[in-house]
Amino acid sequence: MFISKLKEALICLRAGRVTMPYPFVPLETKDGFRGQPEVDGTRCLGCGTCAGVCPPRSITLVDDGASRVFKLDYSRCTYCARCADVCPEGAIRLNNRFELATGKKEDLSVTVSLKMAKCSSCGRFFTPERLLKKTVEKLTGDEFGQQAQEWLFWCPECRKTRLAKSLLGMEGTEHV
Ligand code: SF4
Ligand code: SF4
Repeated sequence: MFISKLKEALICLRAGRVTMPYPFVPLETKDGFRGQPEVDGTRCLGCGTCAGVCPPRSITLVDDGASRVFKLDYSRCTYCARCADVCPEGAIRLNNRFELATGKKEDLSVTVSLKMAKCSSCGRFFTPERLLKKTVEKLTGDEFGQQAQEWLFWCPECRKTRLAKSLLGMEGTEHV
């Protein structure tokens, strides 16, 4: 019994120190480490692609009249990086931070408020201005895009009404 305990003690002594002095000394992360997603609000278009692929639904986009509010909730995030992979604008990237402990609840989320554009037909807010501008830019110079330009400034409801009227040969009559 005594011998086996002595052997155990020797093995432990030979192994040396195996624990880290964290949190007294910060942990170094390795290249490729996937930490918290960082959002660059100046690049975000409010397209919602990231929210659509986020497994725990950490990202939400809510339309509130003249604004679309993007919110990322770190308390649900699993640092999987899917949002960063799909963002067409590179507005999300994972940094090397991983600690969530905080005394302030507001530190656990990031919010971006995007200004909405109004439908040129009925006047209701329907899409973020940045997203609309980007779409127009992408379609400029494209033949189909030129034809679709007018439609881009209508909300989905007005597009549906206009399409229905066009199919019924009622184009030119006032709508919505
Ligand atoms: S995918 Fe990118 S641009 Fe679109 S809402 Fe998410 S962060 Fe913004
Ligand atoms: S890293 Fe994963 S879990 Fe976190 S916000 Fe992005 S998609 Fe969602």
